[in-house]
Parts: sequence; structure tokens; C-alpha cells
Amino acid sequence: MLCDTRMTGAGRDYIMALTILDACINCDVCESECPNGAISQGEDIYEIDPAKCTECVGHFDTSQCTEVCPVECIIIDPKVIETKEQLLLKYHKLTAT
Ligand code: SF4
Ligand code: SF4
Repeated sequence: MLCDTRMTGAGRDYIMALTILDACINCDVCESECPNGAISQGEDIYEIDPAKCTECVGHFDTSQCTEVCPVECIIIDPKVIETKEQLLLKYHKLTAT
């Protein structure tokens, strides 16, 4: 199933972490694009750690993984709703030295 990944990014009052659908073809393109190291190979397909996904807030204006996925199988995860402020806080925690 192809999904409209353009729903992500600016223009919403709330933001969510992203998740990867079974349509993933394990092409490995997205992993290196994630600025937070949130994407890794799972048991069957690639997975996104919601604790590390900021929807690229703090790094980029758009979600980098959705930009590169050739089958558009990365979608917003309705189970992980966070405000932009919460994502910025997560970004600062992830990048603290
Ligand atoms: S949206 Fe950004 S932070 Fe989240 S998994 Fe994709 S590349 Fe990583
Ligand atoms: S870019 Fe898409 S198809 Fe490729 S590994 Fe990532 S989620 Fe799977």
C-alpha cells in the first residue's frame, strides 16, 4: 500500500514519529539518511525507534527518510503523537554532549 508521506513536516499543530510498513523492500537507503540514528534493520524489515525519531525536527524541515524511500512505505505513526515542542526537547536530549 502506498501512502501519502507528504502529510509529514511543517503545517500541522502536532507531529508524530514515523513508522515503516510491511511494504519495505529492505533497500537500506533510509538508514544512513536519519540524523538521529533512529532507523535500523529489524527482524523482517527496517524499523524506526520512536524514542529517537523527531520527524527530523531540529535537523531538517522535512523528514529525510520519507524523501528517499523508493516505495513510500514510511508513514506517520498515529500511536505516537508529540508536539513540535516535545520533538525539539527530544532533539536536544539526543544531541546533548
Ligand atoms: S523522520 Fe527523520 S528522525 Fe524520524 S526516522 Fe525519519 S529520518 Fe529519522
Ligand atoms: S527506504 Fe523504504 S524500502 Fe528502503 S529500507 Fe527504508 S523503509 Fe524500507
